[in-house]
Amino acid sequence: MKADPSAQLTLLELQEIDSQAAQLRHQLAHPAEAAELAALAKRRVETDGWLRDQQIVVDDLTAAQAKADADVEQVKARRKRDQDRIDAGQIGNPKDLERMQHELATLERRISVLEDEEIEVMEQLETAQAGLDQMNADLAEVDARIVELTRARDTRAAELQERLTEIEDRRGPVAARVPEELLALYERIRAAKGSGAALLRARRCEGCMLTLDPGAISAIRGKADDDVVRCEECTRILVRTADSGL
Ligand SMILES: [Zn+2]
Repeated sequence: MKADPSAQLTLLELQEIDSQAAQLRHQLAHPAEAAELAALAKRRVETDGWLRDQQIVVDDLTAAQAKADADVEQVKARRKRDQDRIDAGQIGNPKDLERMQHELATLERRISVLEDEEIEVMEQLETAQAGLDQMNADLAEVDARIVELTRARDTRAAELQERLTEIEDRRGPVAARVPEELLALYERIRAAKGSGAALLRARRCEGCMLTLDPGAISAIRGKADDDVVRCEECTRILVRTADSGL
């Protein structure tokens, strides 16, 4: 294939644009925050699950505490009723009085047991509530970090996208300076290799970074300026300049 040396040089310009665009697209597709955001999303699901379970524990203990309170109050009310009757002198029969006093002593012991249970439930509830508060705090922290990272990622993505658009806008006019046939070859190699053209600098292909052997150099020396030369190793179009060491 033959192509004007200036068109071959333009390929390097095009390659630079394409490399920058590829790098920007890669950065857009793989934001630095992605790994942490994925880990946070996982942690959020876990924390949310624990939080729901813990809320059930707190609700159950809250109900148990209300019941324990009510039980104590009920027995205390009965004790008061009995005591009031005794105090009012309503129990005339000594046998009834004795039975009533015996009942009062039983109620007293019952209140003591119920109050111990009430305290135990209260302590369990306090511990459970503290756990729930901690989980809520953890979740709030996770959410805040997610917001922060998402904002950073989106800001960065907007910057990258702006640069990419700018580069893509620059590409058209540069590509238009390359003859169709040469451009098609460039695109074919770029699709396969990631880049289509490379500078031959100091006898080295800057595409595959291999130094050409003397035979290859001598063959290239024999070519005309408008011959399109390819790297034997990587097949990229080799663009010759005064720096090529020929
Ligand atoms: Zn090469």
